[in-house]
Amino acid sequence: MKLLSFFSKLLDYIYYRKCYLCSKKCTDISICPDCTDKIFSDISYCKTKKFGVEIFSGAIYETEILKIIRALKYHKKQEFEKILSDVILKTIENYELNFENFIICPVPIHQNRMKKRKYNHMELVADSIGKKLDIKVQKDLIKRVKDTAPLYKLSIPERKKAIDGAFEVSDEVKDKNILLIDDIITSGTTVKEISRLINEKGASSLVIISATRSKSFI
Ligand SMILES: [Zn+2]
Repeated sequence: MKLLSFFSKLLDYIYYRKCYLCSKKCTDISICPDCTDKIFSDISYCKTKKFGVEIFSGAIYETEILKIIRALKYHKKQEFEKILSDVILKTIENYELNFENFIICPVPIHQNRMKKRKYNHMELVADSIGKKLDIKVQKDLIKRVKDTAPLYKLSIPERKKAIDGAFEVSDEVKDKNILLIDDIITSGTTVKEISRLINEKGASSLVIISATRSKSFI
């Protein structure tokens, strides 16, 4: 492993890496400082209340961050979790939110997708945030039990049908404060369904934060 990391460093030194977004040469990171600055200056925080739950989000996802999310989800760019974590942390800071005595739950993926992708990117994000804020992370409280097509590909009625029975929430959420985190909120169908189940199980409180949202979700 040490040898591998030595060679990877050597290769980076010889060839340099390219910024994933603008292809400019950059040394030890895969997003150059200019693109990183652009991502963070594009954040337009948003706070709303829907289906009785407070929802906070960072960037609008029709920006560079969409490429980051895709790379993180589909192209094994696990290191990009840091950008999503930082966007969520900045959102928490912006609204001066306090999550003491909360449990972070990432939106889960179905085990079939887990087998294919090897990881749930939102679990990586949850771990980073949990570590940074010293909050407990629990990945098994919400389970995705139905493997559905990505919801953004479906019409609204199809989404409703696909989401019905897609999740299971553990009885353990009773009397707990839950912070649910997601990468993108588009129509809000997923977080609405999970919120319904969490509230049904008697959680004390629930707050949702997504790194990004669609323009139409405010
Ligand atoms: Zn760049």
